[in-house]
Amino acid sequence: MDERHFSRAETRDPASACATSECTRMLLRCPTMNDTRCILFDTLFGTNSAPIVLIDPASDGAIVDANRKALEFYGYSREEFRELHVYDINTLGRSVLPVMREISSWSGGHYPQRFRHRLADGTVRDVQVYAGPVDLIDRKLLLCVIQDITQVIEAEQFNRLLLESVNIGVCGIDGGGMFTFVNPEAVRAFGFLHESEVIKLGIHRFLGEADRPLDGEAHRVLEAVATGTAVQGLECMMRREDGTPFPVRLVASPIRVGDQVKGAVISFTDLTREREREDEVADLMNAIPGAVFQAVMKPGKHFEITYFNGAAKSFLGLADGDDPTSAAVLSPLLTRSGWVDLLRSLRRSAGRLQAWEREFPIKGADEGRWLLGRASTRRQPNGDVVFNGVLLDITDRKLLEARLEDAALTDPLTGLRNRRHFEIALKEAEKRQAAASSPYSLMVIDIDHFKQLNDRHGHDAGDDVLRRVADTLRLRSRQSDCVARWGGEEFALLLPGTALGLASALANDIRGAVAEAGLSVDGLSVSIGVGEAAQGEDAGDFFRRIDAALYRAKANGRNRVELA
Ligand code: GH3
Ligand code: MG
Ligand code: MG
Repeated sequence: MDERHFSRAETRDPASACATSECTRMLLRCPTMNDTRCILFDTLFGTNSAPIVLIDPASDGAIVDANRKALEFYGYSREEFRELHVYDINTLGRSVLPVMREISSWSGGHYPQRFRHRLADGTVRDVQVYAGPVDLIDRKLLLCVIQDITQVIEAEQFNRLLLESVNIGVCGIDGGGMFTFVNPEAVRAFGFLHESEVIKLGIHRFLGEADRPLDGEAHRVLEAVATGTAVQGLECMMRREDGTPFPVRLVASPIRVGDQVKGAVISFTDLTREREREDEVADLMNAIPGAVFQAVMKPGKHFEITYFNGAAKSFLGLADGDDPTSAAVLSPLLTRSGWVDLLRSLRRSAGRLQAWEREFPIKGADEGRWLLGRASTRRQPNGDVVFNGVLLDITDRKLLEARLEDAALTDPLTGLRNRRHFEIALKEAEKRQAAASSPYSLMVIDIDHFKQLNDRHGHDAGDDVLRRVADTLRLRSRQSDCVARWGGEEFALLLPGTALGLASALANDIRGAVAEAGLSVDGLSVSIGVGEAAQGEDAGDFFRRIDAALYRAKANGRNRVELA
């Protein structure tokens, strides 16, 4: 009978439900153990809350005994369990035997080993086994304390998977900066193919730029790790194995054990692509014939520009040292009322959360310019309204508009104001008189016998005379007067702020000047009706009154001035 059969025969006992089996008790009663050791072993084996299995390496790893916790864990009765060998529960099968023999040859402490054990119901658990030899009687058994680490392994696998699948570089370093682990993204970022190539290196090799490796921000990382301070979202440079620098956003979390800093976990996001995209956007913005801006309007009166793209300063004609985000720098670009108007329009859009659009003139070094501002509005949680938009130079368009407008109000032959403009000016004079009792006078001038002149000297000569009469009128009028060609050979002269006396004197002067000079045609003359508007007189009635006076001048022999 071999030892195994002997030991089992000895311990087979119907009252075996006790915590410590008879077999063990028998073994403990052995003369080679003193009392203290017996009690210690009894406590360790019988009442321990961890599963413990006693196996016999000399009998192919036969299970000699197990405590109650182990029987619960594996799901066997004590009898069933003691029929088994270690290879029945270990997924390695018989190949576990050399390992077991190796362990049993060790003297002294217990060494944790990881295995996978199969339970009675067939499920497999990851276990950590603290196995060590014990001498009982004259036999060397192996005491195995089992720790179920299935969940730990699952968590480890999950973490591993996580570290492998994230697109941020994660690495662990020890107190000396040497890597303890590096995830695939960090391996790639550092310019390697496999973790094993990186793991033997230190973080110093990859921090900072090649020519100034530990300058500035990169240095802060090492300092923080050395002192155990965390670093959050630090933007600095790292470099690949070939020396290529790349920008990163980095987080360093120190690993502490008690009071001591044992190293750190460093994670970083490679910002190369992000920076490229930012550059592309900046290029795009600077390509716009204007300025991209972002402005913030705080509730109340405060308004601040928070962003201008690179080209904006030169666009606005600001000096290099000027801070374009300061209202003190921007407001002098406008007139005082222009700045107030601008702020008012911004405030209105902010209040209604509407898109903002405004055309406004700004002062320039030489000539002023017109800008068009357009922005969308968005309210931030703190109540500030953000404007995102553009400023465009519309000076050319404004000049063209002004030219077109001017052309629409100008007589092309003489360059005088046309009838449309005259009618607007007449209405304005009427309004001013009503509002401020400001007098105004008017004369209507008609060339005498112009038809004959045309017939005699030709149409071109007629045109020439029209231009010369126009010059005569322009020469004698003030800036504030409106000199217009009313019709074919008829002119009107509106004299704001002028009473009848001065107006009739001017009329006579004009009549005389035309008659005296003859304006290249002998016998050329004009007839003029002139008058001052009565207080509150309708502008149309006033004009008709002057026209009637002109008619009288014609009727009374021409080359005359008649007062209305
Ligand atoms: P009156 O002394 O009564 O004012 O006689 P008049 O011939 O000046 O007046 P009338 O109204 O009979 O003729 C005006 C002429 O002015 C008729 C037209 O041919 C001429 N005329 C109108 N516009 C132009 C123009 O742009 N150029 C030229 N050359 N002649 C014009
Ligand atoms: Mg006429
Ligand atoms: Mg005429």
